[in-house]
Amino acid sequence: MKKGLVIALTFFLLLTGCSSSNESMKEPEYITELKELGYQQEVIDELTEKLTTEELNKLTEFDYVEVLLDILNSKDYKAENLEKYLKYYEAGMNGEAVVYIVNNDIHYTYNEKLVSIMNHEYFIAENLDRYMSYESDNTDFIVRAVNSNIDKEVFENLKTTDTAKNELMLVNKYYQLPSSYQNKNMVYLSSKYTNKSGQRLNKEAYDAFKKLVEAGEKEGIYIRAMNTFQNASTVEKNYTASDDVQKDKTVFRSGHSEHQTGLAVDVNKKGAKTEEEWISSKEAEWMQENAYLYGFILRYPEDKKELTGYDFIPCHYRYVGVDAATYIKEKNITFEEYYAYFVEQDRQIEQ
Ligand SMILES: [Zn+2]
Repeated sequence: MKKGLVIALTFFLLLTGCSSSNESMKEPEYITELKELGYQQEVIDELTEKLTTEELNKLTEFDYVEVLLDILNSKDYKAENLEKYLKYYEAGMNGEAVVYIVNNDIHYTYNEKLVSIMNHEYFIAENLDRYMSYESDNTDFIVRAVNSNIDKEVFENLKTTDTAKNELMLVNKYYQLPSSYQNKNMVYLSSKYTNKSGQRLNKEAYDAFKKLVEAGEKEGIYIRAMNTFQNASTVEKNYTASDDVQKDKTVFRSGHSEHQTGLAVDVNKKGAKTEEEWISSKEAEWMQENAYLYGFILRYPEDKKELTGYDFIPCHYRYVGVDAATYIKEKNITFEEYYAYFVEQDRQIEQ
C-alpha cells in the first residue's frame, strides 16, 4: 500500500511539475496577435522558423497577408524588403508578383490588368513594361503577343538566331539566321520518303520523319516530303519570284526561313504535285493529330496568324523534338510562345 502511495505521489508531482512549466512558457504576444489576424497555427510555425522576433512583431502591424508564405518562399525574397512586400501586398496578387514588383522598384499602381498579367501562366518578368504598354483589354493575348514580339516592328533590330539551340532554334521575323550559318548535319532523303528528288533534312529531323511516315502507312496514310532544306539563295530567289501579296505571308525572306535549317518539311500525299491536293486530305488531318508524337508541329496554324506573323501554311511542319512538340500541341500555343518562355528563359517544362 505504501509503495502505491509513493508512486501516486510521484505522478502527482510530475503532473503538477509539467503544468507549472507550461504555465511559465506563456505564448508570446505576437503569436496571439497573428492568430487574431487570421494566421493558421501551421503558418505561424513556419513563420517563426523563418523570421526574427522583430520581423514577427512587424507582421502584426499589417492585415492578414494571404500569400505571405509564397513571398517568404520566393527564390528572390529579400529580408530587407519584407516591410515593402507587406505594404505592397494587394488581394489577388501572387507572392512572386509582389516580390518582383518590390525588388525591381516598379511603380505601377495596383490594378486588375497588372494582377492579371503577372498571374499569367507565361508571364516573363523582363517583359512587364511591354505588357503594360500594349493596348488591349485582353491580358491573355497581351502576354502571348509580347512574348511573341509582335509589339515590335518586323525585320527591324533583328536578333540573331541562336543556332546552338539546334532543333529548338527560332527563325522568324525577329530572329535571323547568321549569314554564315551552315547546318552540317544534313542527309539526303531516300526516294521512299519524298515526292521530289534531291531533298535534304537535318539527320535527327529525318530520322523522326521516317518514323512518322512508317507509322502513317500502318494506318493507310501516305505522307511524303515535298520541300525540305533550301539554301539562302534558293530562299531569296523564291521570295523575289513570289507575288507581292504572298511575300512575308506564306513566302519567307532569306535568313528568315526555317527551310534553311533543315528542320522544316513541307509535306504532301504520296505522288501529289500541288499543295491543293494536301488541303482537306485525310493525310493532312492525320498530321494535325499525330505529328507531335514524332516531334513535329504545324508551324503556322490558321488561328495563330497574329502570333506567328504568317498566314496559315497547312503543309509546313517543323521538327522541334517530342517534348516541345507534345507541350505545344497540348497547350495549343505557337513555337514563338514556347521559345520565349522555355528556351530563351531556360525553363524546364513542369511534368
Ligand atoms: Zn515550308
